[in-house]
Amino acid sequence: MRKWPTSVAVAIPLLVCSVATCQEAVPDNAAPSANLFGIKRGNQTEVFVASDVSKKVEKAVKDTLAVAVDTWGSSGRFEYWVLGTDRAAAEELASAFCRRRVARGHMTRRDCLRDSTNKDHGFLTYQEIGAKALATGRPQGSAGHNGGAEWGFHRMTSSLPLGFAGALNIAGEDEQITILHEYWHSIQNAFIQTKDHKRRRELMGPVWFIEGSAVAMAEINSARLWASGKLPKWRNSSHPWQTLQQRMTNKMASVQQHRKACPTLLPSSYDGKCRQLAYDSGGWAIAYLMHQHGADVLLKSFHPNVQKLGWEKCFRKTFGQSSADFVTEFERFMDLPLGEQVKILPKF
Ligand SMILES: [Zn+2]
Repeated sequence: MRKWPTSVAVAIPLLVCSVATCQEAVPDNAAPSANLFGIKRGNQTEVFVASDVSKKVEKAVKDTLAVAVDTWGSSGRFEYWVLGTDRAAAEELASAFCRRRVARGHMTRRDCLRDSTNKDHGFLTYQEIGAKALATGRPQGSAGHNGGAEWGFHRMTSSLPLGFAGALNIAGEDEQITILHEYWHSIQNAFIQTKDHKRRRELMGPVWFIEGSAVAMAEINSARLWASGKLPKWRNSSHPWQTLQQRMTNKMASVQQHRKACPTLLPSSYDGKCRQLAYDSGGWAIAYLMHQHGADVLLKSFHPNVQKLGWEKCFRKTFGQSSADFVTEFERFMDLPLGEQVKILPKF
């Protein structure tokens, strides 16, 4: 769920602050000092909800984002727009979004309304997902990091978080994982100081790495945060919430079922019938790298160097092998018995 609209290339250094640290990454050239996402210390997330979304849902989204910021630091200006199921309320929220874009000189009102309602990943798409779920009784949800770098913020959109709304027996824990996943995408983007969407995509790396990182970071950190009590458990579904081991085992089963029909375990593209492997198999690939190189390897080693080195060189420096060699090694790991594979997962 992502798109990066085109814009002009600039290379600028990055300032990343977390609660504990404030570190400056090295620019890739002698570009003027700037901070594309306006990253400061502390929580910069803003949440906007449609008028038919309850206060309880709004608070849960805000609280989960606050935990994400506390865990990984600020990714800079960050807007999370949450749709409900009512169309008029969705149009009203799109208007509010556009008033903000116009006031900040990002877009004309006309361009913005066209962009924020009608296009793929527009507000109405997300509203319809929630409305359809409630109408059919078949749960579905979607959230996306939908660009924003050209205006110096992270533009996030979400359908109604059913688990926070207490709808269709969806667990609140599911929504917490979604928000951590999306927030991690903002962290990945925060380390890249360019408005050029092609350059940004190159620096983000292959899709298995982008999505696998978000899956692994959300799954592993949510388990850790529930265990420590920093993230509340919801226990609002009739199905008991599964452990990290069980959830990753489910993903492994799905990978093993689909791998024969796919040319690679680690797809580089969002297109095609094998895209789910980028999430499930990619999640295992990143968990495997974190097991070998430490839980902080992405945040502390990989991302601070990616703009300076480029994705492949940065991968080689961080993980001590080319990404192609890693893929070969990972395929061997995926042939091991499940009992061996689950040993790489952290226990909380
Ligand atoms: Zn994602």
